Amino acid sequence: MAFEGLSDRLQNTIKKITGKGKVSEQDVKEMTREVRLALLEADVNFKVVKDLISRIKERATGQEVMESLTPGQQVIKVVKDELSELMGGEQSKIAVADKSPTVIMMVGLQGAGKTTTTGKLANLLRKKNNRSPLLVACDVYRPAAIKQLETLGEQLNMPVFSMGTEAKPIDIATKAIEQAKEEHNDYVIIDTAGRLHVDNHLMDELQDIKANVKPDEIFLVVDAMTGQDAVNVAESFNEQLDITGVVLTKLDGDTRGGAALSIKAVTDKPIKFAGIGEKLDQLEAFHPERMASRILG
Ligand code: GDP
Repeated sequence: MAFEGLSDRLQNTIKKITGKGKVSEQDVKEMTREVRLALLEADVNFKVVKDLISRIKERATGQEVMESLTPGQQVIKVVKDELSELMGGEQSKIAVADKSPTVIMMVGLQGAGKTTTTGKLANLLRKKNNRSPLLVACDVYRPAAIKQLETLGEQLNMPVFSMGTEAKPIDIATKAIEQAKEEHNDYVIIDTAGRLHVDNHLMDELQDIKANVKPDEIFLVVDAMTGQDAVNVAESFNEQLDITGVVLTKLDGDTRGGAALSIKAVTDKPIKFAGIGEKLDQLEAFHPERMASRILG
């Protein structure tokens, strides 16, 4: 499971307080100190931790705990609520355009899992929502990326729109949407180019595509295992593109959890999906509340 490190530490901390019939200010102080250290060790953004701890402290020494019959458990509930809230609280849904097709732009750095996630998302939309997506290959710089998407399309038995490496990404996207209308594909998922680093050329191109196709969603795909780097990448993409959500990949390999716990607070954009393995059915909707419960055990 993801986040074992953080989870173990926090569970140890809350064990000490759970059964308490009375919770003193000193207890709260010790507990928040340990939660703080556990979160910093999990590579959660420093400012995010600071704000979170002050909210937990305030609530844990407030009325709802003091007047509770089970103060120990109430304190744990406060921590759980705050962790859930930190990750966005309610689960956020995927957009549906008033007029079909709904257009989703997938963006992110190379290697984050963008192309794989494009396939996984299409698979999920078909399976859970009975949709018929069209996949679009807009990474004209890497023939291998186009091939990869075509292979995914074959595996999923789903159409892939591509115009090779000579066409412009905007033209590819525009034509793909026309085709989707004709063929009654209700979702168009555009796999855009990625680079090793955030750079102006990449952002200019993505902004052009955005301005032309007016996507209903712009999902940033980031690798959870890169921790605070993923958070920084999310900040840059959000500043330039005003993304609508994040897909956090490789959560299966992330023992720390820093990205998952920081991204929403830093960018104010929700994590919508999480990748939990390489297979095409290993993408799930991200539920902050369930995730918080899992972390606290
Ligand atoms: P792109 O360059 O961003 O398009 O990245 P790819 O889609 O090619 O993915 C890069 C690698 O990450 C591939 O080996 C994928 O199988 C792997 N990958 C993607 N998502 C996940 C995930 O959720 N978990 C794991 N373990 N691997 C993933």
